[in-house]
Amino acid sequence: MSSIVLFDDGQHKNVLLEEFSPGGAVQANQYLIVHDRQGMILDPGGHKIYSKVLSETSHLLAGGELRTIFLSHQDPDIVAAVNGWLMSTDADAWASELWIRFIPHFGVDQLVASRLHPIPDAGMVFDLAGSKLLALPAHFLHSCGNLHLYDPRSKILFSGDLGASLGVQYREVPDFDAHRRYMEGFHRRYMASNLVLRAWVSMVRTLDIETIAPQHGAIFRGREMVGRFLDWCEGLECGSDVLLGLYKVPEIG
Ligand code: FE
Repeated sequence: MSSIVLFDDGQHKNVLLEEFSPGGAVQANQYLIVHDRQGMILDPGGHKIYSKVLSETSHLLAGGELRTIFLSHQDPDIVAAVNGWLMSTDADAWASELWIRFIPHFGVDQLVASRLHPIPDAGMVFDLAGSKLLALPAHFLHSCGNLHLYDPRSKILFSGDLGASLGVQYREVPDFDAHRRYMEGFHRRYMASNLVLRAWVSMVRTLDIETIAPQHGAIFRGREMVGRFLDWCEGLECGSDVLLGLYKVPEIG
């Protein structure tokens, strides 16, 4: 596991924890935000990477404390190890209110279940040692209860599965047009519809964003690249736009 600093102004830090070989599982990015030695981990991941992410996190916190576990949605590559995180830290975990009664099926102990909290549909503001972080509605992109996290200090938008790319070897997108093919198949099938994408884009365009950091694959750096990605989202047909023809009963034999 390697850790890459995406932003650091001395008091406030955003770090990417990257694992390239989780043994057959999809590659995933974990992100740690540290403000005055208080930490927030985003989408900490499943069991295959749990111990590495935990030890890297405590190393990066350097005696500080993990306060918050942010879960963008309910998928196993995000939530599966949440019980371990709750048992081995004093952090509180937050997820969409839609998933609060389902996440315990990953095996959340009664002892720590009260530290799993709901994020309302409208999103909310987190306070990490005085630093404000915005949980933004991103429902149906792809999960029906889905949140993104925007850090106004670093101007990074952590976009969960939106913007995910599979099979890329680079960490930052060098050429948007060449990169699209690593995103298209996934987004067409997993994202709900162009209507939802457009609503998300118009919300996100009101923010000052320098970087979009998805949970899988390469990140989008710089305003021009961010703009290219938002334009692409706005024009993408996906989900119900393209899948309605599939609703046919399979033929027997
Ligand atoms: Fe997912």
